[in-house]
Amino acid sequence: MASIIDGKAISLAIKEELKKKVRELKEKGVRINLAVIQVGDNPASAVYVRNKKKGCEYIGIGSLSYELDKETTQEELLDLIRELNAREDVNGILVQLPLPSHIDEDTVIRAIDPKKDVDGFHPQSVGALCIGQPGFVSCTPAGVIQLLKRSGIQIEGKECVVLGRSNIVGKPMSILLLRENATVTIAHSRTRNLKEVTGRADILIAAVGRPKMITRDYVKAGAVVIDVGINRDENNKLCGDVDFDDVAPICSAITPVPGGVGPMTVAMLLYNCVASVTIGQSGAIS
Ligand code: NDP
Repeated sequence: MASIIDGKAISLAIKEELKKKVRELKEKGVRINLAVIQVGDNPASAVYVRNKKKGCEYIGIGSLSYELDKETTQEELLDLIRELNAREDVNGILVQLPLPSHIDEDTVIRAIDPKKDVDGFHPQSVGALCIGQPGFVSCTPAGVIQLLKRSGIQIEGKECVVLGRSNIVGKPMSILLLRENATVTIAHSRTRNLKEVTGRADILIAAVGRPKMITRDYVKAGAVVIDVGINRDENNKLCGDVDFDDVAPICSAITPVPGGVGPMTVAMLLYNCVASVTIGQSGAIS
């Protein structure tokens, strides 16, 4: 049976480290504020925003909350971002996605000052990641690296397969694994012989958004399996992209859903907020 990678415990350890750092900064007169913008009333977004604000409170940083009506125009949202870009007391700006369909997400992401881009979605942050320069790293993939490292799982030299190529998970995930000297394959919906490809992985990262798609026939015996997916199963119960009960008996380590990657995303957002004032735009913790 696999060992279960406990994202809750690891994220708590990171938050405790950050809490200490925030306390030290406060003693030097440095205060950190994150601006969180939500447009409309998507219930899942409301939960994510609440967790992020709770995280800020826990480590002792301020959060400024902007809950905007779903009819808010793109120009009104951009005006708010420009105002927050200019404010010296605001260190990070987070716009919760998805946005209503009349607002162009790319335009909004580009409007955020890269120095305050704590989500790591701005093209400048993504470019910096690709060429190994300092910059904010997208929180979920950064969290996966921390889960692996803090569980004592070696990444260097391993065959890693990332299933999914989205801009916020799959692509940055593969770059981060490459940075850790893994041999990386990215698989997606057009990949042929998918089971053969994923079956080569020493470390398999599933980020497809398909409930319980990954059964044991996709997984090499003894592999490490990281499940990024957050889905609902046929009984409306939260589940990942991996069929946990089927895969856990044959792999060496696995993340549960919930309690695996999810809590790490918030921890890494908080890390990015603190990094914005301590060490510039540092990216992931080494
Ligand atoms: P996207 O829908 O943007 O991307 C899904 C990717 O999976 C695409 O690259 C797609 O390929 C690929 N894919 C879809 N179906 C298949 C298939 N049958 N076979 C092979 N590849 C397939 O999703 P995200 O990356 O945004 O999110 C992925 C999952 O992670 C979701 O469940 C999401 O909720 C979760 N998530 C969790 C977070 C957390 O904090 N834990 C944070 C962010 C996301 P193609 O490009 O060819 O279409």
